[in-house]
Amino acid sequence: MSRRMSIHQEIQMWQKITRRLEWCVAEMERSRQRRTPRSQRPRCGARTRTGGMCRAPVVWCEATDEPRNGRCRIHGGLSTGPRTDAGKERIRESNRRRAKKPTETDT
Ligand SMILES: [Zn+2]
Repeated sequence: MSRRMSIHQEIQMWQKITRRLEWCVAEMERSRQRRTPRSQRPRCGARTRTGGMCRAPVVWCEATDEPRNGRCRIHGGLSTGPRTDAGKERIRESNRRRAKKPTETDT
């Protein structure tokens, strides 16, 4: 370290190094939390046109380390369906209306 460095410069330098170290630690922590390896995640399993099962990995929620809804991204895995109470009620209401009047369009 140079002696010509002022105490202010020195503090700044150490703050930089500390920030960098903290970032490294946080990054390591994040990678350790990636728990289920890709190879161990379940497969989609949707029926394919050839009669087999879709072997694509399911859409994975990294935050909770769970499958989002158990399907791969081309078999509806990206869609979660209604999540909020208001959304659930809306789809219920829509289904009720459609069940009552099958000939009318649902608008
Ligand atoms: Zn699939």
